[in-house]
Amino acid sequence: MKIFEYYASLRSEILEVVTGVENSGWSLFWDDTTPNYVTKRKLEELYKKYLGVARSFGLYVVTRHCDCPNPKHLEYPVSNNYGLEISYRDEKFVWNGGQMYQGPRNCICPCSPKNKQTQHHVIDDVIYEVSANQELCKELEGILCDVVEAIDCAGDKKPRSAIRENLLRAVLRINDQLLPEKMDVYIENQLKTNA
Ligand SMILES: [Zn+2]
Ligand SMILES: [Zn+2]
Repeated sequence: MKIFEYYASLRSEILEVVTGVENSGWSLFWDDTTPNYVTKRKLEELYKKYLGVARSFGLYVVTRHCDCPNPKHLEYPVSNNYGLEISYRDEKFVWNGGQMYQGPRNCICPCSPKNKQTQHHVIDDVIYEVSANQELCKELEGILCDVVEAIDCAGDKKPRSAIRENLLRAVLRINDQLLPEKMDVYIENQLKTNA
């Protein structure tokens, strides 16, 4: 998948969640009928799908396990869903400090194969392949981060406006990436030309 295609498809799927309508474009119709838990599930699937493809552009998210009840736990064992060996601060990747999540999680710490599932502190680190286009990865990170924030806002009884706000921010960022130049730059140039 080329990056333009990726952005276009992500944009249309996000707008579909916002409006509840397929191919909604920019119709200013808010879907206030879908319960938050359905929206949350849709967004989680969307995030999983587009994070998976982001790998082909060099962006990965790996999980750092900060502590666990195992007394032999040392430093930061790292796990990932890519079937790769990635250690903390692995030199094949750029570790900019970006995080998709930090907090408690029920999971199996990889510090020992004998570990069982426990509640402990984890960090989902965003890392870029050294050879990847770093600017592109940064844009992708910002967009995927907006989706994660929308998911965080999609708890029961939380206002839909907060979900929407994050998703629309993602759409605005994507628009800037799809256009030949960012909207701000375009406006500035037009103002100069017409002055
Ligand atoms: Zn863990
Ligand atoms: Zn551990």
